[in-house]
Parts: sequence; structure tokens; C-alpha cells
Amino acid sequence: MEIVPHVSDDTLERFAMESLRGSESEPLEEHLLICPGCRERLKATDEFVTAMTSAAAKMQKGQRRKAKAILPSSAPAKSTAESNVAERNGHESE
Ligand SMILES: [Zn+2]
Repeated sequence: MEIVPHVSDDTLERFAMESLRGSESEPLEEHLLICPGCRERLKATDEFVTAMTSAAAKMQKGQRRKAKAILPSSAPAKSTAESNVAERNGHESE
């Protein structure tokens, strides 16, 4: 009985970004045919990559409103705390 390894998150992400070579994506595509679990993960990864790509494109155009909506709710608080600390440290070192 053959044991088929599941696809790693990294490989799924590269596949979703279409940065896998043909020889790398072939076993992955074969695995997806027999593994509904990895198909679901690919779907989620693909949606994430698409959201990140479109968010990055929108931010380059200066439209930040929609990019904020896709971030997890904990992210803004964390980045604010980090920037406060960085600001304070910057003043102390001067
Ligand atoms: Zn799998």
C-alpha cells in the first residue's frame, strides 16, 4: 500500500502563486485528485494569495480601505503596539 504524503503549506502557497515548475506541480496535482483535505487547503491558500495580491495592488494605488478589511482583527493592535515601542526606543537612543 502506497503512502502519499500530504502537500506542505509552503508548496501549496507556491502552487497557488503559480511559481511551481511542471515537475514539482505534477505530484501535487495527483495528490489533490485523491485528497479532499488538501483540495480544501489549496482553496483557502488560493483565496489568501488572491486577497494578498489584490490588496497589495490596491495599496500601491493608494486605496487602503479594503486591504484593512482582510486582516485578522488582532493585527492592527499588535502593529500599533510595536510602532509605539519603536518610536519610544528611537527617541531614547537619540
Ligand atoms: Zn493531502
